[in-house]
Amino acid sequence: MAEAVLTAEHIAKAFGAHKVLSDVRFCIGADEIVGLLGPNGSGKSTLLNIVSGFSRPDAGEILFLGKSLAGMPSHKIARHGLVRTFQLPSMPHRMTVREVLRAGSRDGAGLLNSFTGKGSEDANADELIEQFALAPVAHLPASSLSGGQKKLLSIAVALRTRPKLLCLDEPTAGVHPQLRGRMVELLKAFNKRGVAMLVVEHDMHFIRELCGRCIVLDRGEIIADCAPRELTENERVVEAYLGK
Ligand code: ADP
Ligand code: MG
Repeated sequence: MAEAVLTAEHIAKAFGAHKVLSDVRFCIGADEIVGLLGPNGSGKSTLLNIVSGFSRPDAGEILFLGKSLAGMPSHKIARHGLVRTFQLPSMPHRMTVREVLRAGSRDGAGLLNSFTGKGSEDANADELIEQFALAPVAHLPASSLSGGQKKLLSIAVALRTRPKLLCLDEPTAGVHPQLRGRMVELLKAFNKRGVAMLVVEHDMHFIRELCGRCIVLDRGEIIADCAPRELTENERVVEAYLGK
């Protein structure tokens, strides 16, 4: 593993009396794509919210590139290069797909270019539109897209900010199976260009194709940290999914 881009130390979170995460610890190397798995309600989205600053842990700390993110608001975390997408992305009503992509870059240069004319940021946005198969809908309002297309657009917007760590919450949900293979290839290509990833996903085929390592949560605790092919031989993982 290369140098850690993210370190989670002893993360705990409860909602009232309900303990959702307890003593969660893991690292992500700068060159890795790590799957975050677990049955429904095991705490995956809560953990992604904490990692990306959308929620605060009750205890523990997140280090990004060696620095604590404690107290930092999510937009600032994103500007540092830790970006996430949501399970159900929401899109602005009045902007087209192309406008949404051209507006979204980390330093705001894309937004400026969209007012002043074409720039390299626009070329980058147009390339992403092609890569993510959004060309046929690029002129449509982003809010009119199907769930799967919104998902693709939200990933493209996140990648356009050139993150160091991209957190994806169920990227294939609602995405046409034919596009899933393409998504794997695209995400791997961005990973080779220096984007580490943490991916919550239920599609095990997708996970096996994409991830070198998986972390499995069950009732808020990490029960496995292994290669995807080792999951089926892991007793705790099998039990967690069979609900024993
Ligand atoms: P997953 O993404 O693995 O399905 P979540 O992180 O969404 O799981 O939820 C884990 C548990 O925490 C669930 O029991 C859920 O009901 C509870 N939970 C999540 N968010 C909240 C919240 N804001 N308030 C109260 N309970 C919550
Ligand atoms: Mg979830």
